[in-house]
Amino acid sequence: MAIERTLSIIKPDATRRNLTGQIIARFEEKGLRVVASKRIKLSQAQAEGFYAVHKERSFFGELVEYMMSEPVVVQVLEGENAILANREIMGATNPANADEGTIRKDFAVDVQENSVHGSDAPETAAEEIAYFFSACEIVG
Ligand code: ADP
Ligand code: MG
Repeated sequence: MAIERTLSIIKPDATRRNLTGQIIARFEEKGLRVVASKRIKLSQAQAEGFYAVHKERSFFGELVEYMMSEPVVVQVLEGENAILANREIMGATNPANADEGTIRKDFAVDVQENSVHGSDAPETAAEEIAYFFSACEIVG
């Protein structure tokens, strides 16, 4: 088992509905630790840059608009196999396909407004953490 770090975002649909604490509790209950956190309102450039991998997708424009619509909480989660563990706690992208007890099953509005983001691999985790945090802002 490796101790990893991953980027998590509590998305606008969740901050709007005041679910931040309930979502963080899910991570902490499963052994992940918040080692960096900030609440920010993404600019268009920040949202487009973060989701650049999806820029050819039909939903890119509305995804960027949604991510800018309300504040988000960006955070670094640390723990054993944190990248996969976070994805399991989150559940499937579309809440209709998400397992019982996952964040997306319990809180997501739909496939777009799905409450949380989580990095999907070690390389993207490192890139996404560096996108929002400098080394001195992460305190394990
Ligand atoms: P995940 O967040 O599970 O890694 P993706 O990387 O495939 O999922 O997609 C990034 C985000 O884009 C999703 O979390 C969701 O907010 C949005 N999204 C994905 N698929 C769709 C879709 N078919 N329609 C609208 N928005 C979508
Ligand atoms: Mg993804």
